[in-house]
Amino acid sequence: MNPWVAKAVVVVATVVMMAIRASLGHRSRSVKVAKSYKTPRETGLLVLAWVGFFVPLIWVASPAFWFAEYQLRASPLVAGVTCLVISLWLFYRSHADLGTNWSITLEVREGHRLITQGVYRGVRHPMYSALLLYSVGQALVIPNWVAGLSNLVAFAVVFALRIGAEERMMSQQFGNEYAAYTARTKRLIPRVW
Ligand code: SAH
Repeated sequence: MNPWVAKAVVVVATVVMMAIRASLGHRSRSVKVAKSYKTPRETGLLVLAWVGFFVPLIWVASPAFWFAEYQLRASPLVAGVTCLVISLWLFYRSHADLGTNWSITLEVREGHRLITQGVYRGVRHPMYSALLLYSVGQALVIPNWVAGLSNLVAFAVVFALRIGAEERMMSQQFGNEYAAYTARTKRLIPRVW
């Protein structure tokens, strides 16, 4: 199949994701940060996430990764588009449920509430589940080993190193309430992990 089909899918998915973040994420900017837990390691992880996110766009716009190209086939493309659609829905839902409690990094806002409803009912990190599923979708859609895997590798490293620190922060902030929430939920996959 023509790789431009995959390129169109990547562009549409990226625009939808950025539109969701721009429209729902900006609401938290009006709420002051009460306490920041941002460390140099956290800054490094954010840079890694951005690099992973932009490599597929470099692939769309240039022949930079020509050496890693392979043939695009219909079945991984369909499976990948399915993952992207589900992940964008989950990304939208987690932003909507988190509301102004959302931050791009580790911080607690004034009047921060612990969200345990909606997509937060069964898992503690639905937004990270959405982003991981999004990277799986891209890996399936993009017929290029470098651009296809960049998001998956970057997000896997970022979340592996971030989830522990985020849960320690939430536990410091919400104490027993967070302990009870942790006891009845999983991290990323409902009922599994
Ligand atoms: N890890 C969550 C949220 C990602 S945004 C997810 O994947 O869905 C990161 C910020 O969200 C953190 O800095 C923290 O301030 C906030 N946060 C994380 N879980 C939360 C929850 N259950 N309720 C309220 N705020 C939360």
